[in-house]
Amino acid sequence: MSLLINGLLRKIPKMDELLSHPVFAAHEPSPALTLAARRVLDKLRREIQSGAAGEIPALEDLAREGLRQFEAGQEPCLKRVINGTGIILHTNLGRAPLAAEALSAIEEAARGYSNLEYDISAGKRSSRYVHVEALLTQLTGAEAAIVVNNNAAAVLLALSAVARSPHLDEVIISRGELVEVGGSFRIPDVMEQSGCRLVEVGTTNKTHIPDYVKAIDPAKTGAILRVHTSNFAIIGFASKPSVEELAETARAHGIPLIEDLGSGCVLNLAPYGIHGQPVVASSIKAGADIVTFSGDKLLGGPQAGIIVGKADLVAKMKSHPLTRAFRIDKLCLAALEATLKLYLNPKAVVQRIPTLQMLCATADEILEKAGGLAALCNATVASSASVIKSQSQAGGGAMPEENLISYAVAITLPGVPPDALERHFRTGKSPIIGRVADDKFLLDIRTMNKEDFPIIVNRLNQLNPSIEQSTMPRERVGI
Ligand SMILES: *Cc1c(COP(=O)(O)O)cnc(C)c1O
Repeated sequence: MSLLINGLLRKIPKMDELLSHPVFAAHEPSPALTLAARRVLDKLRREIQSGAAGEIPALEDLAREGLRQFEAGQEPCLKRVINGTGIILHTNLGRAPLAAEALSAIEEAARGYSNLEYDISAGKRSSRYVHVEALLTQLTGAEAAIVVNNNAAAVLLALSAVARSPHLDEVIISRGELVEVGGSFRIPDVMEQSGCRLVEVGTTNKTHIPDYVKAIDPAKTGAILRVHTSNFAIIGFASKPSVEELAETARAHGIPLIEDLGSGCVLNLAPYGIHGQPVVASSIKAGADIVTFSGDKLLGGPQAGIIVGKADLVAKMKSHPLTRAFRIDKLCLAALEATLKLYLNPKAVVQRIPTLQMLCATADEILEKAGGLAALCNATVASSASVIKSQSQAGGGAMPEENLISYAVAITLPGVPPDALERHFRTGKSPIIGRVADDKFLLDIRTMNKEDFPIIVNRLNQLNPSIEQSTMPRERVGI
């Protein structure tokens, strides 16, 4: 090691020296503060050893860097962001925001003890599933219900408990439904994990009832699986049997039909202009024996996997060992019950559940809101904001081929490239996630609240013309 490096290493300030600098001394001593100081000195040591640092920075600069790290460490890592992407069920942004009723239910259940698995009138142990089962059967017309951690778990449990028995372990599925849902949830892999043997029938674009019938073996077939291919659409020369037809075939052979609806709707959204979304009650009515769907997609509730269907099959799932591993936690359960209760009043539910409210918002409503934000922006710094037509999406795998007409506020600032603007909004204390298109920074209004607007204006106000030279926070961003 060179003399120069050795000399520099010897000049690194001592921990005590750094910690007693007024910048640090103004804060109450704590292990987190000491850790931040140590990190700064360790980093400096590495930089000297690698030759990246040729001098010792001023003690004050080191202290300020340490304090910056300390303060960054106090911020929660998981935090609220403003969704200006226009994608309502954005999996990376946490999918469905919850209704006020669901939020209070979570708070109430989290604050103290609850009757999670306790029958108050009998004074005895009970099951956590009773809190939502009656609601789910009432809303879907199914005989029984159980809820688990998410829909991926629901499908795996359904296949494991219903389809798998020592001899009846084959599950028939159309080749057009062997999909990957995202986040590496692939139907063929899930089937393999459940221990079932996959029997593919038909072709990618066409599968007919006789294809299924040919594959049924009374000595081997455990179930027929139908998957709502929610995140892509085969358009053109394509067809598959209806749920009714498939259910009739399954029934004739004494085999259960399991349907993974993905983003199933509890309410028919057609009256609100949202067409083609599978409704859970329709699948049950059409004869599906088990239907699974997500709690945090179009339902607009917390993360959960909801399973409804025949009582004997649901009973098998309730006693299956995997159920314990997949069980829903009490906070999600509380939020789910509150969300489902809102569906008991179908007239009011669209306004109460944020996901449905955003989905059903009319273009005119969004246009008016967008005008409001643009005006607020234009009243501030030298920015110019205008309202442009945009397209938002349901997300979460729902309605892949349908874009919803929406409006975005396009923000430009002289001398500031749109990428820098995008980064400025994204980083910092209240992240605002938008996108750049046609050389403009866009915020889609469909997925935003009026309460978000002051935060956006505030963030805009923090800009000055030297934005590019200013030190952009070097935060990790997982988008
Ligand atoms: C989203 C989806 C899943 C996975 O649901 P999670 O609740 O995210 O686990 C499974 N199947 C289909 C068809 C889906 O759309």
